[in-house]
Amino acid sequence: MKRRVQLMNPAAQHEALKVDIDAAVSRVLSSGVYVNGPHVAAFEHEFAEYTGACHAIGVGNGTDALRIALTALNVGPGDEVITVANSFIATAEAIVHVGATPVFIEVDKHTALMDVHRLADAITEKTAAIIPVHLYGRPVDMDVVMDIAGAHGIAVIEDACQAHGAIYKGRPVGSLGDLACFSFYPTKNLGAMGDGGAVTTCSGELAERVRLIANHGSSKKYHHDIVGWNSRLDEIQAAVLSTKLATLTAGNQRRTAIAERYRSQLGDLEGLSLIPQDDYGVTSVFHLFVVRSADRDKLARELSARGVETGVHYPVAIHQQQAFSDHYRHWVLPQSEKWAAQCLSLPIYPELSDADVDFVCEQIKSVLATVASSN
Ligand SMILES: *Cc1c(COP(=O)(O)O)cnc(C)c1O
Repeated sequence: MKRRVQLMNPAAQHEALKVDIDAAVSRVLSSGVYVNGPHVAAFEHEFAEYTGACHAIGVGNGTDALRIALTALNVGPGDEVITVANSFIATAEAIVHVGATPVFIEVDKHTALMDVHRLADAITEKTAAIIPVHLYGRPVDMDVVMDIAGAHGIAVIEDACQAHGAIYKGRPVGSLGDLACFSFYPTKNLGAMGDGGAVTTCSGELAERVRLIANHGSSKKYHHDIVGWNSRLDEIQAAVLSTKLATLTAGNQRRTAIAERYRSQLGDLEGLSLIPQDDYGVTSVFHLFVVRSADRDKLARELSARGVETGVHYPVAIHQQQAFSDHYRHWVLPQSEKWAAQCLSLPIYPELSDADVDFVCEQIKSVLATVASSN
């Protein structure tokens, strides 16, 4: 049979944990408590500990986590929120949904992360928050972000939706900003069997506000202190997440080993650029392994024909998305646009075998050799 390598494979992870997950889900189903119950409380406790934050609050998904975090900080109409255009659309959606205006700054040309050296220049009297995105699992240089934000009294929300377990100078993401947002979308490093998310923070006051907003503004049943909404993690997802959290560190280590294997085989190829080794004291958790090619679409097509599934995260920078065409088209962000045009995500997930990684590398070398000889 011809070998095919998938980009991601959440079913493979389920296979490995099936017995434990079935038992956990079955316990919830028999309990009769499906929201706001003990499994969510237990998971929140475990996840707060894992991220080194003092509090974790389960919410419906990562997009809600961002929206709730912004609302907890009272960010709204008239405010600007600084972020990047190389992210999943949700980062900007959340800003727009609270009525604020996204301000996009350029990304670093080597890493696709927020170019923190441009941050100070982007701050105005309207800046209410900064959302650095730990894209592909690699932490942003947070000391620089926190120093600039602190000097201006501006809040920082980490978009850690791709970075569960990533480390910055010895500290896990989720405890670096004022608040941090996580997604448990099934293919994330920590994924639920559906949607889920969390907000983490070390501020007791913000934790309380997040909890209120996510649960109808209610601290006591049928007593509503503020107008909130309904965005909750449910008991089944929390039980699944607790089961999977126990394997997250091992999964992240396996992703790192895969990334190293890719790097050793693809590091010196003509026509392909890799993101440099982690420096400034960061440990990526390789949610994605992203390379760059000037002829990205052709490389992707050829790899697909050879049995290698790839992805593009993301093909259109946020300011150029149709959804925002009336508002942000005037932004010119050459570096962000270049990333969108050239990035290609290679298969990576903990269950991927070394033989599959080697197969992917062979196919890439073969495609690039063909392209080079036809030029
Ligand atoms: C996945 C993701 C989100 C949104 O999470 P959902 O759970 O899908 O709503 C936000 N930001 C980034 C960077 C993401 O990767």
